[in-house]
Amino acid sequence: MGLPELSKNLLLLIQRNGPLTKNDLIEVTALKLTTLNRFLKPLTDEHWIVRSGTAGGNVGRPSSLLEINRDARAVIGVDISRTSVNILVLSLGMDIIDRHTFPVTAETSQEAVIERICQKIIDFEKKHAGRTFLTVGIGMIGPIDTKTGQILHLEPLPVGMTFDFDIRDVIHTRTGLPVSIESGAGLALLAESAFGEARNYTRIAYISSGIGIRSSYRIDDQPLKTPHAREDTLAHMTVDSSGFLCTCGRRGCVEAYSSLHALLDAYTEKTGETLDYRTFLERAHSGNPIALSLLDHAAEILGIGIANNIRTLGLDYIILSGPLVEHSTLFYNRVMESALTQVQNAFTEGFIFDKGGTFAHNSIAVGAALYGFESYLER
Ligand SMILES: [Zn+2]
Repeated sequence: MGLPELSKNLLLLIQRNGPLTKNDLIEVTALKLTTLNRFLKPLTDEHWIVRSGTAGGNVGRPSSLLEINRDARAVIGVDISRTSVNILVLSLGMDIIDRHTFPVTAETSQEAVIERICQKIIDFEKKHAGRTFLTVGIGMIGPIDTKTGQILHLEPLPVGMTFDFDIRDVIHTRTGLPVSIESGAGLALLAESAFGEARNYTRIAYISSGIGIRSSYRIDDQPLKTPHAREDTLAHMTVDSSGFLCTCGRRGCVEAYSSLHALLDAYTEKTGETLDYRTFLERAHSGNPIALSLLDHAAEILGIGIANNIRTLGLDYIILSGPLVEHSTLFYNRVMESALTQVQNAFTEGFIFDKGGTFAHNSIAVGAALYGFESYLER
């Protein structure tokens, strides 16, 4: 990317915090006005930013506001999860312009998934021909080896999905666009902390409870790095060393109680009946004692895990998301109750729970697009 380094930094600053006046920018960057003007020039010349009205002020001339250009360009964000693929077209202001979602089942081959993503990107480029498409960002079930673009196989994937090749190469060859890839939970947190309600907080967790439990943390504006960028650290936190057997081979992990997998397996074990999660939740919500007690216990255990996170990391903002939270307010409320009970009298400064986050089920795809754009600027 041909922009000077300082112009790129100003662009990201305006993208995340705009509209801003030059005075705002001088306050944050401590640049001189002449320097600021010099590095803003390529951004206005190449239509990365636009003037968007003026900021009031009774004294002196009103100063014009600078904002990211929401019209000229687009970025693609893709979320590949265990149950579905979500493809978004976004402006550089992270407005969702278009979308396509399709389910992933045990019968879907990984080649078919990637081909459908590529075809959709090509279709989107034709449909929105007035915009320049810059990049594709992909959020995957982590952890990801970002050097090879492959998933490290620490968690179960849908049947037929091994992704034992570099997805970036395949999509780049088909679409001509640069492609970046990262673990989904971290990307969701990136989107929420840059553009969501969480942006005003400094110690943030994004916890998704679905087929597996995925988590990611941001402490003092930096992502908390886990070994191999694992997003299952909360999932395999031990809450009962002689408890249920977990998929990782140990006993009593949070995931052995609180994931959809664990819940549905436990229900089958108790009743002999195999259910999908929506039916399971319907039963719990209508008061079926077995389903209800399993859901309740799952929420209690997840709450204990989160309370341990709150104590250790001093979290002040916790986003809970994923299918279980999205489809069960009961589950969400019980997780919160359990966490609150556990941290009573702990030395916390207080914390906030957020159901689903600002972007809800689009968090990962928005974060992927944002990460894709940052990677594009670094090239
Ligand atoms: Zn485990």
